[in-house]
This record gives sequence, structure tokens and C-alpha cells, in this order.
Amino acid sequence: MPVPLIFDLSKPGRVGHSLPACAVPAKPTESLIPAKFLRSAPPRLPEVSEGEAVRHFVNLSALNHHIDRGTYPLGSCTMKYNPKVNEVAARLPGFAEMHPLAPSQTAQGLLRLIHELERMLCEITGFAGVTLQPPAGAASELTGLLVMRQYHRQKGNRKTHVLLPDSAHGTNPASATFAGYEARQLASTDDGRLSLDALRAAVNDETAGLMITNPSTLGLFETRIREIAGIIHGVDGLVYMDGANMNALLGIAKPAAMGVNMCHLNLHKTFSTPHGGGGPGGGCLAVREDLVPFLPVPRVEVCDGNYRLAWDRPESIGNVHAFWGNVGVMVRAYCYIRMMGGDGLERVSRTAIINANYLYALVKDLFDTPYQGPYMHEFVVSGDRQKARGVRTLDMAKRLLDFGVYAPTVYFPLIVSEAMMIEPTETESRQAIEEYAALLRRVAREVEQEPETVLKAPHATPIGRVDEVRAARQPDLRYAFDGL
Ligand SMILES: *Cc1c(COP(=O)(O)O)cnc(C)c1O
Repeated sequence: MPVPLIFDLSKPGRVGHSLPACAVPAKPTESLIPAKFLRSAPPRLPEVSEGEAVRHFVNLSALNHHIDRGTYPLGSCTMKYNPKVNEVAARLPGFAEMHPLAPSQTAQGLLRLIHELERMLCEITGFAGVTLQPPAGAASELTGLLVMRQYHRQKGNRKTHVLLPDSAHGTNPASATFAGYEARQLASTDDGRLSLDALRAAVNDETAGLMITNPSTLGLFETRIREIAGIIHGVDGLVYMDGANMNALLGIAKPAAMGVNMCHLNLHKTFSTPHGGGGPGGGCLAVREDLVPFLPVPRVEVCDGNYRLAWDRPESIGNVHAFWGNVGVMVRAYCYIRMMGGDGLERVSRTAIINANYLYALVKDLFDTPYQGPYMHEFVVSGDRQKARGVRTLDMAKRLLDFGVYAPTVYFPLIVSEAMMIEPTETESRQAIEEYAALLRRVAREVEQEPETVLKAPHATPIGRVDEVRAARQPDLRYAFDGL
């Protein structure tokens, strides 16, 4: 006979009478929902224990690579470790559950955060005004180009095209085109920088402006940026700096001091937000004083100690994103900047630069190196030497996945054949960087000694090589329960 367990927690001392394990809710006798809409039988849901459910999700989370699993040196993407405490802040109900139509009086905390974040980003960039409305880097570029168009319209300038270097991120020409300009490409010099000769030859009275990435997508600083800006200003053009990767400049150089007129920063790259996989992003567009009236509405204003949304800006380009923007990304950026402080941010950039140059020094003998450093936050090498042996950069990238790390960005920038763009970021330790270098060395050796291993990689991932074009064009989005 089993002995019944009796718990009575209402009295001190030893437990006495039996308590029901858990109250079963009484079946509602009357329902507001008409009977024909009520279920007659319970839904067929998978029945599993909590332990099984937890294992299921933990295993799912490990099928794909992510920064919490291992090194993720995806160039241009700044896949740094994101402090978990920022996630806690972003989920605070006052931010996460704010109603999009909440009146300003009930959103003072959020408005203050937006206002203070704008001011901190003004300090970081050296510019007079910032908008946080664009939800991504590309959206900030379009916003900036619309501001450029507004500037020319106000002055009665007839402008038709925007210039950009051939190393530009693909979103740059797309944004220029979207804003109604023709995108014209400029050649780079052999040292990877914008060619001033090409610039002088291309610029004319119809040049609306230049979009330039600095540090460039090759990880190189455009040392002649002031001269470049001067040439554009000579035809009353504006210089737009793509500062998506601010990770090398924090506390070291302000874009405004380089002679550019506006720039965007990707909050989700430099200022902590887990990204990739199409998650929410946050753009920030910073502009010089005379362009501030053109920024999107509403603007956050302080009036008698209260924060409010101001719509009354007749020169504004209008609204580029609904409601408050991507608030969660702003909260993370705010926490990150406050937590690091000015000194901490400078240390971020100095460490990011040292890490990139250290990794470059460890691996530069393995690959062709089209440019010589010193590099900023990332560097680019070429797999031409391996291609000559029949193994392509894509194969080496796939092989790296076998070792629990991620591959670099490959085949970008387009001007480097068999490109590998490597950005370790400041959050990788010296040991992790040395381990990554050792893996690159191992893969390079395999290319020489057992190329088949590399050509058939990956061997250890749940899924091998996929048809990426087909996956993008005809995605199979079935929800699979089979594992449960
Ligand atoms: C990531 C990136 C962009 C685009 O940013 P999204 O947020 O992905 O739209 C633009 N330019 C550069 C240089 C980048 O690295």
C-alpha cells in the first residue's frame, strides 16, 4: 500500500491534512462565446514534459551559429558580444509595452531616453542633430539622401547624380537611386582608397553629393577625406559618410571633423543589439547644423522640463518610420553607451583595431594580400592563391563552419577577387583570435594537402551546402513538429 503524502501549509510545525495538488478551474457554465465557436475536443498539441521542451529549444538554438556559441568575425557586420543586461533593460515594460499611440505625457521616460541618446550620438559624431527614426542602416542612407535632395531643392540647385566608390556597400547605390539620383561609381586606387583623379574627373555642377564609407569596406581609413570633401563642396554638393561600422572611430575621430556633412551609424552593429537573421535594427542619421530642419518628424523636444513630440517642422522630409522607431534597439544603445562611458568607448575602438591588426599579422602569409595595412576594425585578404589549386573562398568558408566558428564575409567588397573580409571585434579574447588564426592555417594547409576535405565541407553542421538562391526565391517555411 502506498503511504499518502499529506501537506497542510496553513499551520506551523509538521504538515497535516491533504491539500489538492492544484486547483482545477471550474468549467464556465455560461460563456460569452457562442457555442458553435467553442472547441468540442482539446487541440492536438504535442504533449511533452518541461525538460523535453527546454531541450528542444536549446538544441534548436544550437543548430545555427551565433555569437554566444563562438567567434563570428563576419566583416562589416560587427558581430560583437552583446551584454545581456541590455536585454533586460530593453524588456522593461515601460519601454517594451509602450503603446504606439500613447500620449507624450505618459511616455516621458522613453522620450527622455530618445532625447539623451540623440545628444550622446551628437557628441560621438560631432554633428548638431540626430534622428533615430530609420530602422536600419539602409533606411538611414535613404533618409540622408532625402535630406540631401531637400537641401538642393531649397537652394534651387539642379542636381542629377551621386558619386560613390566601387568598394561601397550595395545599399549605397540603392539608396541614391531610391532618392531619385543616378548612382555613379568611382574607381579606387591600388592602395584601396578613393581615387582623387577619378573624383575630379567625375564631379561637375550636377553632382548632388558623394557617399563614402570611412573606414572603407576594405578596413582602410580614407586619409584624404578632407580633400575629398573639399572637392564635393566646390560644386555645392554634400558628403554623406556611411558610418555603419563606427567601431574603429569611437572617441578617436568624429565624422564632423573630417569635413563630411552627415553620416549614419548602425546602432545594431556598434552599440549592442543582437543582429543578423533579419532581426530589428536601428539607424541613426547625424547631420550638420543647417540640415537639422530637414530631419524627419516628429522630433523629440524638451519644453519646460517636459518631453514632447514636435510635428511642426515645415522643411522636414516627413516621416520615415512609424511611431517611435525601433525602441528596443535604442534602449540597448543607450545602456551600452552609458555603461561604457567616453573612455570605455574609446577602449572599444582601440581594442577592435588592435584585434583586427593582430589577426591580420597572424594570417597574412597564408593568403594574397591586395592591400597593406594598417587596418582599422577589419581587414580583407584574397583567396586567389587557393583558387589556383582549385579550392575557392566559399569552400574555405564552409570548412571553417566545421570547427564551431563562423566564416568571414566572403566575396565582398566586390573589387577584391575571392575576398575574405575579417572583423574579429573587440570582444574576442587574444586566445580566441589565436585559435581562429590556427583554424585558418589548418584550412590553408588542407587546401594544399587534402583539398577534397575542404571541397566537400561542411562535414559537422546539421545541414551541408544549401542551394542559397533557391532558398531565397522559394523558401520552404513549414513549421516542423516532427522533432517533438
Ligand atoms: C551593414 C552596412 C550597411 C547596411 O546596414 P543595414 O542595417 O543592414 O541596412 C550599410 N553600409 C555598410 C558599410 C554596412 O556595413
